Amino acid sequence: MVDRDVFVQNLGKVKHRKILLIRIGLSLLFIALIAFMWMSKSGVSSSLQWTLKTAATVFFAGLAFWFITLIQKMCRRLELHCPNCHRNLSGPLSHKVLESGQCFQCGVKLF
Ligand SMILES: [Zn+2]
Repeated sequence: MVDRDVFVQNLGKVKHRKILLIRIGLSLLFIALIAFMWMSKSGVSSSLQWTLKTAATVFFAGLAFWFITLIQKMCRRLELHCPNCHRNLSGPLSHKVLESGQCFQCGVKLF
């Protein structure tokens, strides 16, 4: 059982962390795109460009996976999951939890 105010507070924390990670991800993506545009204009060999593009794709896939893991760990630490069905409650349906005080998945009373 969690306190409603603490739940709201923790939702805010996770939201801020998500925004931060999205900003970092988009900045890196932007830098990568600029670098690839520059490379296609300069005389970098196409095989090297292909290798770098593959590496960048793997890097961004890994980064996305890592960010999702970070958020999930944070939600677990801040108790933003249902104690009954373990559903993550910090997503777009969190407003339903706040309105009803219940898990939107299984309906167990949270606060
Ligand atoms: Zn539940």
